[in-house]
Amino acid sequence: MIRHVVKFPHAALKTVAKPVEKVTPQILELLDDMLETMYADKGCGLAANQINLLSRMIVMDCSEKHDSPVKLINPEIVWHSEEQIIVKEGCLSFPGACVEVQRHKSVRVKYLDTTGKTQEKTFEAVWAICAQHEIDHINGITFLDYLSKQEQRQILERMKNKV
Ligand SMILES: [Zn+2]
Repeated sequence: MIRHVVKFPHAALKTVAKPVEKVTPQILELLDDMLETMYADKGCGLAANQINLLSRMIVMDCSEKHDSPVKLINPEIVWHSEEQIIVKEGCLSFPGACVEVQRHKSVRVKYLDTTGKTQEKTFEAVWAICAQHEIDHINGITFLDYLSKQEQRQILERMKNKV
């Protein structure tokens, strides 16, 4: 089911999401909904906060063919490279906005998979950027938080003109 994606400044985007205690059929259904919503909106990542659900879950697919969905429950960055890269990022909660953020080039993420097992996976380049962006979301952080007050104002002005 496609869910409504909340837009900034919705309170859910500023709230720290709670850990998922148990991977239930309902959780799996929500993850499917998140992926469906993300694909429908042509995004490459979505965090539960963005559909006003305050649970620590993210989905991603940074592949060219959009055929490599990833579902991460309670994701946590356990290692990151020293090397950083800057990529222009979009966000489904900030329609039309495009922001440059400096992030780690690779990150290792610990998470629960859809069977409830603990896993670790290393993400590189665009996948690593996306993972950092989405994990920020479940911590109540958006890319706006990396910008100066003046840059924030510019982005929000531009968003207003789009609506
Ligand atoms: Zn986002």
